[in-house]
Amino acid sequence: IRLYVDHPLGPGQSLPLEEGQAHYLFGVMREGQGARVLLFNGRDGEWLAEVTEAGKRKGVLACLEQTRPQTGLADLWLLFAPVKKARTDMIVEKAVELGAARLLPVATDYTNSERLRRDKAEAHVREAAEQCGALTLPEVADMAPLARLLSDWPAGRRILWADESAPPGGPLAPLGKAAPDPWAILIGPEGGFSQAERDRLRSLPFVTPVSLGPRILRAETAAIAALTLWQATLGDWR
Ligand code: SAM
Repeated sequence: IRLYVDHPLGPGQSLPLEEGQAHYLFGVMREGQGARVLLFNGRDGEWLAEVTEAGKRKGVLACLEQTRPQTGLADLWLLFAPVKKARTDMIVEKAVELGAARLLPVATDYTNSERLRRDKAEAHVREAAEQCGALTLPEVADMAPLARLLSDWPAGRRILWADESAPPGGPLAPLGKAAPDPWAILIGPEGGFSQAERDRLRSLPFVTPVSLGPRILRAETAAIAALTLWQATLGDWR
């Protein structure tokens, strides 16, 4: 069992369990005093800990030893237009598994969903990180209009725009041997980008349109494919 805790981890450190985690550990998993779990908090690596107190909806853990030192993530952001709920949840989950460092939901002209509950997305991030062994959790930004993000775009960060009408030529071919700059991947909603958005994206020097192959992918498939290709080409799987 691997749990995210918002608490410092270190030698001799003891920490309380959140109510929901205590319920999961003792009620659902039937663990009790003496059980061993792995803990991470996004800062102090991963620690083996032991349950020293187990109550119905509360518990205390004591850190025993560090099992992995803290490591960071490649500097990759994912900009995505929220789609239907289950598909958006999937984008968030897969982005954590595939090592995105920041998730930025964007409102576009054809966005299917006007809102994304940040607290819910953060809960999905924690669950996905617990499951996949991640040590660092991507930050979830508030949903923002694409146009505003593009006009305030930070200098030096490039955007890989998953564009189904980009010329084919192999995955991420336009990047060649690009420097490991900070990057962001941009995925559109089910209806794609409007002509005005496409014109704007094409006019920006820091945006590179790339094809993800000859078929139209669903937004969540496009996110998974682009993250995978980026990690293999420029990211931390090289
Ligand atoms: N407007 C499109 C259509 O109906 O023809 C569909 C958009 S697609 C479902 C959602 C998003 O996935 C797109 O905006 C794009 O970012 C990405 N995408 C899908 N297929 C792609 C491909 N073959 N190459 C690059 N990006 C793709």
